[in-house]
Amino acid sequence: MERFANQWSEMWWHLRKKAKRGEIALPPDKELAQELTSLRQSREGDVIRVESRAEYYKRTGHEPTKAIAFAVSLWAEHATLPLCSTCGGTEPPLVAMWDDAADRAIRVCQVCLPATIARLKGDTLA
Ligand SMILES: [Zn+2]
Repeated sequence: MERFANQWSEMWWHLRKKAKRGEIALPPDKELAQELTSLRQSREGDVIRVESRAEYYKRTGHEPTKAIAFAVSLWAEHATLPLCSTCGGTEPPLVAMWDDAADRAIRVCQVCLPATIARLKGDTLA
């Protein structure tokens, strides 16, 4: 059984495992493919850790925006998040995002979306 430094690492590890097994179809997007393969993974003992969004940004000068959107939407399905993480509502379409501060995937309804985007922007790369 693998262990992970945080949920962020677990999410990427699962994505890679699924991709290796051919269980997910990647859209034909070079930028996405490049981002997906450039996130660094390390092992500390038996604990798997994937570099954070901030570390990635520091190293490359940009955010892996497409890769995050792709990974989080799959992970939100895996984690079965059917409701808005903020209000519990279902105002469609729900958008899957990664919450760095909480280290988890969230789903956000259209009502909560603007405030959530503002909050996450403030958290990230601060
Ligand atoms: Zn909501």
